[in-house]
Amino acid sequence: MTLDASEFYKQDFETKRQLIRDYRKSKEEAEKQPATPAEGEAALIAAGGRKITGSQQDQLKWLFAGRAIFTVRNSKTGNRFTYSISKNKKDEKLFWVAVLRGPDNTSDYTPLGRIVNNDSGGTYLRNRSSRIGEDAQSHKVFAWFFQQLSAGTLPDFIEIWHAGRCGRCGRLLTVPESISRGIGPECASMF
Ligand SMILES: [Zn+2]
Repeated sequence: MTLDASEFYKQDFETKRQLIRDYRKSKEEAEKQPATPAEGEAALIAAGGRKITGSQQDQLKWLFAGRAIFTVRNSKTGNRFTYSISKNKKDEKLFWVAVLRGPDNTSDYTPLGRIVNNDSGGTYLRNRSSRIGEDAQSHKVFAWFFQQLSAGTLPDFIEIWHAGRCGRCGRLLTVPESISRGIGPECASMF
């Protein structure tokens, strides 16, 4: 809808106001047009939150982005662990690995070990001082996952999910179902 100025000025006050209201409304409606799938995907990637695909080499590279938070899921069993890999501030080749062990997915991470990164992946070592023992499932899963991914032999049923943000409240999402939905369970129940 456009406003024709010469027609507009002929109208009385009330009609002018109505025309302006209609014009604004039509502009708002136009802005509400759904985004194209390509735009949608770009927005999703920008906001984080997706299943990481691509070659295993690319996936490995992504883990060393510096502040990666991701969930590794076995799609056969549904078992999953959420890890963070963060870059050491002083040594660029050193990365800290921690595992999520509490209800707050932004702060409840327990240090697990470290990776000295080289271009082909690196070596993961559990910290001897870690509260997580060498028999703990979270340590064993990470060691195996990282070794498989470095070798390019990670089985297809192991998925890597990049943490996302809830589309309603903005909180971090680490559960694959929530990531793919783009909304946390509490917010989803309000729709
Ligand atoms: Zn939410």
